[in-house]
Amino acid sequence: MQSGGFISLKMEKTVSLHTLGCKLNYSETSTIASNFNQKGFKLKPFGESSDIFVLNTCSVTDNADKECRQIIRSVLNNNPDTYVIVTGCYAQLQPDEISGIGGVDLVLGTNEKFKLFDYADNFQKKSLSCVFTSPIKEATDFEYAYSSDVDSRTRAFLKIQDGCDYNCSFCTIPLARGKSRSQPVYEVTQNARKLLDLGYQEIVLTGVNTGDYISDAGEKKYRLIDVLYELEKLNIPRIRISSIEPNLLSDEIIQLVKSSEKFCKHFHIPLQSGDSETLKLMRRRYNKDYYENLLYKLNEEIPNIGIGVDVIVGFPQESDERFNNTFGFLESLPISYLHVFSYSERRKTHAASLPGSVNISARKERSRILRELSNKKRFNFYQTNVNKTHNVLFETAKEDGYIYGFTENYIKVRVQASEGFENKILPVGITKTDSYHFCEALCNEMVLS
Ligand code: SF4
Repeated sequence: MQSGGFISLKMEKTVSLHTLGCKLNYSETSTIASNFNQKGFKLKPFGESSDIFVLNTCSVTDNADKECRQIIRSVLNNNPDTYVIVTGCYAQLQPDEISGIGGVDLVLGTNEKFKLFDYADNFQKKSLSCVFTSPIKEATDFEYAYSSDVDSRTRAFLKIQDGCDYNCSFCTIPLARGKSRSQPVYEVTQNARKLLDLGYQEIVLTGVNTGDYISDAGEKKYRLIDVLYELEKLNIPRIRISSIEPNLLSDEIIQLVKSSEKFCKHFHIPLQSGDSETLKLMRRRYNKDYYENLLYKLNEEIPNIGIGVDVIVGFPQESDERFNNTFGFLESLPISYLHVFSYSERRKTHAASLPGSVNISARKERSRILRELSNKKRFNFYQTNVNKTHNVLFETAKEDGYIYGFTENYIKVRVQASEGFENKILPVGITKTDSYHFCEALCNEMVLS
């Protein structure tokens, strides 16, 4: 039985979805899930057997590719009749590797990701997989997406930008997602309003290169700062800028975040290397001095700001000395945590052709060292916040009897679970911390919003 070209509600076809990679991918999977929902499919959690399975892949490292293949195989092992659709960055870059896995039904590239229903042929399994990918230069449309935290409507990740025009030598994202493009500003505000109506308390702005946001409205060109001004006018309790390139974090943005109660005092600012030569080889658009000045300026303007930093270890020609430069630089900076990545050769990138490959065991060891540094930084940051008051957006209560949430400067806190805390922003006093995992806090139960 079919209805409108798709399987009818009576058949209760089920679909489960899974995402690998960044927040942007998560927001896109959420939108694909709600498209299924609107067409009458029943959503099932990932891991439960379903008639259809959608995997939105990542290709940031070799490990990400490997994980994609493992997940596909495991889903098919558990349920060989599942109709398997694979999309996302890995699907755009290496469709043949995916279609070569027996049992995969449909591989969709970046441009085809949101047109899934046009290609799925009623989700009937066939003996061969179908691959639909367009050249990446054709990926010029902006597809609206937002995602929420798994089971509570507290934070929504709102996609405002996609693609990237930079050419960092290690990065495959421009090849997988295409040119930089942005959502028109009136659509951003419209979607932010929708999220507010749905009850979200925090909107996290996401994109591949969010700081590079640019859109036209009549004669006027809107940049990220203009979007922030527009969002500031709305009744949003909290707005967070997820990640921003250091060269795009302008004084105007800093001043707005400083002066507005709505903007979280938290930035995630990729560094990638603290060694000058490596930064040049990476083709990053700033040098160490610029980055250092920016971080001190931020700390001076917004005391107690939370700052996260992306860093890559094991980039070609990263000698012990160059790695030590990175370590020393990060150790000296006023930051609160690191996201550490092991360099992984990506096909068709400039870095993959550079001599001086670093062996895998050194990459692992350097990763370990920086993760340890990150734990120390986070613990120190948490400790400096003990005896301070913060507003926390509480998520869902856990089985351990606590409810967890994040402060505006991105400290994870927990308090004894209590009725009515969920999805509320409440003031807490941080009482202690024993680790870099979270801080203990007391809440005076006064609801702020
Ligand atoms: S800014 Fe560089 S690292 Fe980030 S997506 Fe663009 S090319 Fe990749």
